[in-house]
Amino acid sequence: MGLRAADTYANCIKAATPLPLQDLVVDLRERLRAVCRELDGADPRTHTQKLATYHAWMALPLKPSNVRGPSHVLLRYLELELSRHVLRNIARFCLRAHTLRVETGSWQSHNRICDKCDLHDVQDKKHVLFLCLCLEMCYLRRRFEEQFADFAGRTHIGDTGAFYFDNIGAEDVKLFLLKQTYKSFLFLSETMDIFCRAGNV
Ligand SMILES: [Zn+2]
Repeated sequence: MGLRAADTYANCIKAATPLPLQDLVVDLRERLRAVCRELDGADPRTHTQKLATYHAWMALPLKPSNVRGPSHVLLRYLELELSRHVLRNIARFCLRAHTLRVETGSWQSHNRICDKCDLHDVQDKKHVLFLCLCLEMCYLRRRFEEQFADFAGRTHIGDTGAFYFDNIGAEDVKLFLLKQTYKSFLFLSETMDIFCRAGNV
């Protein structure tokens, strides 16, 4: 279904003749890209599909749909030596299999607003990474300060060195998540520990 040369493949199967594999590989890759293209420009803060969030903020750029080489590259955390706890946290964060309130709001009765600070902002990836005013996150950002060196507009809490951002663009979220450094993954994991501990729903 959805393949450009679907009839050709069907006829090959009916006639028990070999499939044109090179065409099939490109077709399959094109179909996969089409799923992402449908979500181009979708705002992850308002779109209900998990895939929209992944596409906007997490997904690596797609490779050309040719028959050679991989069409996709694995996110780097899958290749690093990280503990099972950290790996699980990052996978949950990436796949929106977490309990941030943007997610639990789809099956619990609440307004998805962050309950850890008084910003009255939706508690999603953008909020927890950059905007949340809660002290745990502000101090966590301080511990991983070098991960935020590329982003302007931080506000410090007194002279503690802890900080949050007043405003941040959606593209900045993607830039941060595509850093894929060892330390940026540790930061994501500790963020999950703060917001999504087991039973913290
Ligand atoms: Zn907050």
